[in-house]
Amino acid sequence: MATIAANIQQVQGRIAAACEQARRDVQSVTLLAVSKTFDATAVREALHAGQHRFGENYVQEALEKIQALAEEREQLEWHLIGPLQSNKTRVVAEHFDWVHSVDRLKIAERLSAQRPEALPPLQVCLQVNISGEASKSGLAPTEVPVVARAVAALPRLRLRGLMAIPEPAATLEEQRRPHRALRELLQGLQAEGLAVDTLSMGMSADLDAAVLEGATLVRVGTAIFGTRPRPAP
Ligand SMILES: *Cc1c(COP(=O)(O)O)cnc(C)c1O
Repeated sequence: MATIAANIQQVQGRIAAACEQARRDVQSVTLLAVSKTFDATAVREALHAGQHRFGENYVQEALEKIQALAEEREQLEWHLIGPLQSNKTRVVAEHFDWVHSVDRLKIAERLSAQRPEALPPLQVCLQVNISGEASKSGLAPTEVPVVARAVAALPRLRLRGLMAIPEPAATLEEQRRPHRALRELLQGLQAEGLAVDTLSMGMSADLDAAVLEGATLVRVGTAIFGTRPRPAP
């Protein structure tokens, strides 16, 4: 079985190849290792391989890992990428560095109010339902500009950009379409004068398409840690 270190190298190779094809600087793409369902030992192994940014979906599971890795906290950047309910915003504001899954102004307001003064502003992305799936969370693309302006004005948050989880698609061209749409949405915000720089898009199956369309942060789980040991709770 391939080690986590070897898997990270392979993913970095895919990112580099897509960057070369798109004539992008490889430094413009950040790798977020999605460690959901894997334990602190796996995170530590990735850390020793030089990976410092980790994405988690489930708040409780993440808090346990953050606790278990308290000694390494300074070297770690924790990103919440899963759904966030109002009753969990306080612990998230206290323990995470980034939240990618802000899909309502109310959640953003709570995170801003609850972000401890001693910590830097919480970095956030708005989650967009870019494929228009009824079952998916996220803002409709048409709602994004108004919510983005309101979130950008909150004192203890820093709006960084947009996040999406497009519908799975078989071909590269089909994979590129929703990623392109998200990029155009971000460019629209930039044209309105918002200082946003982050396109959080691309997972194990479609990170190549995402990088070709301008992803600045790819969220990769399976290709680094292997098949998840248990289904999502
Ligand atoms: C699980 C998850 C990922 C990683 O998915 P893989 O296919 O395992 O790479 C990325 N983003 C979000 C929001 C996820 O829930």
